[in-house]
Amino acid sequence: MDQTTARPLRVAVIGAGASGIVTAIKLREIGISDIAVFEKATDLGGTWRDNIYPGAACDIPSHLYSFSFAPNPGWSRAYSAQAEIEQYLQACVDRFGLAGHFRFGQDVTDAAFDEPAGRWRLRTAAGGSLTARVLVWATGPLSEPLVPDLPGIDDFGGRVVHTAAWDGTYDFRGQRVAVVGTGASAVQVVPELQPLAAELVVYQRSAPWIVPRNDRPIGPGRRWLYRRFPPARLAVRAWIYLRLELLLGPVLLGRDERRQRLLEKLAAAYRRRQIADPALRAVLEPDYRLGCKRVLVSDDYYPALTRPNVEVVPAAVSRLRASSVVDALGGEREVDAVVFATGFRAAEPSFAGRVHGVGGQLLSAAWQTGMTAYLGSTVPGFPNLFLLIGPNTTLGHNSMVYMIESHLNYVVDAVGFLDRPGIGTVDVRRDVAERFDRRVQAELATATWATGGCTSWYLDRRGRNTTMWSRPTYRFRRETRRFHAADYVVRSGATTASASPPPAGR
Ligand code: NAP
Repeated sequence: MDQTTARPLRVAVIGAGASGIVTAIKLREIGISDIAVFEKATDLGGTWRDNIYPGAACDIPSHLYSFSFAPNPGWSRAYSAQAEIEQYLQACVDRFGLAGHFRFGQDVTDAAFDEPAGRWRLRTAAGGSLTARVLVWATGPLSEPLVPDLPGIDDFGGRVVHTAAWDGTYDFRGQRVAVVGTGASAVQVVPELQPLAAELVVYQRSAPWIVPRNDRPIGPGRRWLYRRFPPARLAVRAWIYLRLELLLGPVLLGRDERRQRLLEKLAAAYRRRQIADPALRAVLEPDYRLGCKRVLVSDDYYPALTRPNVEVVPAAVSRLRASSVVDALGGEREVDAVVFATGFRAAEPSFAGRVHGVGGQLLSAAWQTGMTAYLGSTVPGFPNLFLLIGPNTTLGHNSMVYMIESHLNYVVDAVGFLDRPGIGTVDVRRDVAERFDRRVQAELATATWATGGCTSWYLDRRGRNTTMWSRPTYRFRRETRRFHAADYVVRSGATTASASPPPAGR
């Protein structure tokens, strides 16, 4: 691929997960078909292609965790498993005829804004290059598995896997297995590994808050109803949205302590019902406020921990040795395999070290004091670059699909604006971006993620929350409904040299 001398692409999209797929669908809807979606893997699906560990499923009900414009009346369960969601994404690609837009096996290693041309120049690992007028970065916050940098990890002679880079060839039957971590991935994989493993050691650095999942199949009668009578499916979708938004949203945003206490009591009662042994129960009691880390939903995690082949070690893993795991309390256990359910590099993504804006400035340098973007999407000095589900757009309680669709309203409107005659580039005004960041950080300062007495992947090394949205989700929908040109420095033509006065906002 060498398209540098050819006509630039109108839009280059990086990442073929849910965000990249919706970008292609929505841009095609406004008549833009000169789009290429670059994907380093050999298939689409993003999170739902990579997270194939046993038990991987969505913890948001499927009728909400699907696109509003592509309903699926046939979801088989309340909470669908990974394979069904991946199939759904593939079905969307087929239905909207997008296959021709994907460039698989193309890892974009460098993106640099060419100021005189007003274009992005991209290079791939395979040595290809191309230019694009608009760059949409859609790799999402949970695409880089994080394995802790533990001493001795290279000396360990057994199998090491991460939940987001699963090794399907390894047979866990009869093995001594260590699971490191007790987050959303761990509570799904532990109940699946427990019946297979001879011994299962769960390393818990901090105990999660867990509430019932109440997963169940959706029977043929209901599926028939949803197919024949779409308002019934829509009503279910609206009910799920409202329930999630109104029940947990105010707690996470630090606006309803009474409800937080009530939910903590309900979660404690659930723990009592599921765990008879008081000693184990005490180990599983969180020492921070509900909502500070993601509230987990599970029907089978606690029961799995009560099985005789399972041991919960209430400590961090501090090192590995040739055939054992050493914990922070000094314990050492012989194991055959270590499963890292240790999450993702979300607060400081490595792609920021590959994107150069005006004057060659790296995005990682612009984010030296913490990642931030206007409406989670645009960064001063990086014209015509749109991040999807960028900084401060993640949720702890509702569907990310809703956020992705909201973000796309904004990006599609912006691309439509850039298509107007004489418009070259848009670069978010620094004062606008800084004001937005101050607002978000001020709002997050009183949210449970900051005040609840825990650390989490929501916070970066400095303790700054660079990942979560700070308001109810419908506010995000409203704020991203339209692109306002007045928030941007708008430059005309194909050159950034001739500045034209910013047009009035729309
Ligand atoms: P995570 O929430 O970041 O959890 C990582 C876990 O690893 C934490 O329990 C952490 O402990 C632990 N850990 C890290 N280093 C450790 C060490 N040295 N020793 C012991 N424990 C260690 O990662 P995740 O479970 O993969 O989930 C990440 C996010 O992905 C979720 O919050 C959610 O947004 C998403 N997700 C969603 C689903 C779904 O169903 N939709 C499923 C999986 C994941 P501390 O808690 O003490 O830091």
